[in-house]
Amino acid sequence: MRKMSKVISGFVVALLTLVMVSMGASVKAAEASEELGEKLLISARSATTPIGSPEDLLEIANSPYEAYHLVCDIDMSGIEWKPFAFHGLINGGGYSILNLTIAETGDAVRETYDGNMKVYDTKFAALFDELSGANINNLNLVNLRIDVETDEPCFIGSFAGYMENSTLDNCTVQGMLQLRAHDRMFGVGGLTGYGCGSVDNCHADVTLVCIDTDATTKDEQFMGGVCAAGYPDMHHNTIVIRGYDSDHGYVHDGGLVGMYMFYPKGTKYKGSITGNYVSGKITFYEDNKNRRAYCDGFIGEIMNWDFDNGSNIRKDFVRDEVFTYDIDLMPHDCANPVWKEEVIAPGCDFGYTKRICETCGYEETDHYTLKDHAYEWTVEREATETQRGSRRGVCKDCGAQKTESIPMLEPKETPAPEKAETESSLEETGAQSQEPAESQQAEEYDWEGTQKFAIANNFWAMLLLALGLVGAAGVVVYVLWKKTR
Ligand SMILES: [Zn+2]
Ligand SMILES: [Zn+2]
Repeated sequence: MRKMSKVISGFVVALLTLVMVSMGASVKAAEASEELGEKLLISARSATTPIGSPEDLLEIANSPYEAYHLVCDIDMSGIEWKPFAFHGLINGGGYSILNLTIAETGDAVRETYDGNMKVYDTKFAALFDELSGANINNLNLVNLRIDVETDEPCFIGSFAGYMENSTLDNCTVQGMLQLRAHDRMFGVGGLTGYGCGSVDNCHADVTLVCIDTDATTKDEQFMGGVCAAGYPDMHHNTIVIRGYDSDHGYVHDGGLVGMYMFYPKGTKYKGSITGNYVSGKITFYEDNKNRRAYCDGFIGEIMNWDFDNGSNIRKDFVRDEVFTYDIDLMPHDCANPVWKEEVIAPGCDFGYTKRICETCGYEETDHYTLKDHAYEWTVEREATETQRGSRRGVCKDCGAQKTESIPMLEPKETPAPEKAETESSLEETGAQSQEPAESQQAEEYDWEGTQKFAIANNFWAMLLLALGLVGAAGVVVYVLWKKTR
């Protein structure tokens, strides 16, 4: 009995000592944990990395395994986008990337397979040339412009050139994707170029152009409203396709997928293709005596039939095969175009320039501009010398709302340094890590990001401390227990 009470009192003293030491060292612990937490918590921290400018978007290339979210629409006009591989998470938050323009393939090289399982080292172009282990959701591409000419096997798409083990969910694209190639295996997909993974709840309103630039060799050529070739699972996608495929070889065109095929050889898979909607037209030729001319509103050629398939709708889809092989098929093929331009001014929706050919009536839109709401601002918290303020804007035309922070006021006198410390640590963190405010937009998201980061770090500091305490207490109990035996 006495031994037991000795053990207990010893344990209590040890624990109290530990707590006191811990409290004394809490600042150091917090510092240490901040460093440790940063390493441990790459994913948690990056879950809050905001994307609010073209520069932020370009920066993803340097940390392609992290997670991001958009905080506003982003206009990529005038920026050359070099595709890169991405393996993280992007939550677009319903925001749009405008005028993304791509004229080259990325560095990723992946193997693609034709219907005879021949393998090709292939290059890709899209927002990301490769998506693997990635998730992109709630992101829109408005006026995407891809125009690639290459001498290598190549696939292009909107979000991914090559995709595997990845998910594309609730994303939209509107734009024009063109590929000119001639080396054995190439194609254009409305959402992804080649591969597998999941494409769900997406909307593509796309003009796809694929041109074989060499009439002397027979190539394998692919086009699909979702994916040019591969075996993506597809659910509840809406595809509006305007396809133009000029092919001196073998055509595989589909409203959803050009060629549905499991790869590599021996792959067993149960696919799933349900609830998709396709409308539009694919105009193509297959300059080939051994003509097959696969073109269908859903899937051009089906190599594997092991997939669930229901509730897919094909509405007003037109398979438009032509038999003159000397002119590249293009959306606009007028001999004497006369253009008239009209600029639609930005308001509560994106602005754009509309071009109409007066000769033939062809219409296209380009040069989108960011929304310009007529905000009326209400200050919700005044800024002081030590604290940011905030204001809320309500668009008088459409009711859209936006909250921005207001920068701290310039100090009028030299502030007492001790006093400045009285602000809450969260706000201090937010203020200190702030770069000089260049625009309200930039401030808004930096603020959000740093605040969440600070909360995450505090949480982990506390967790580490708690774990340390429990572990140490365990050791103490064990040692004391041993002593009593
Ligand atoms: Zn508005
Ligand atoms: Zn015309």
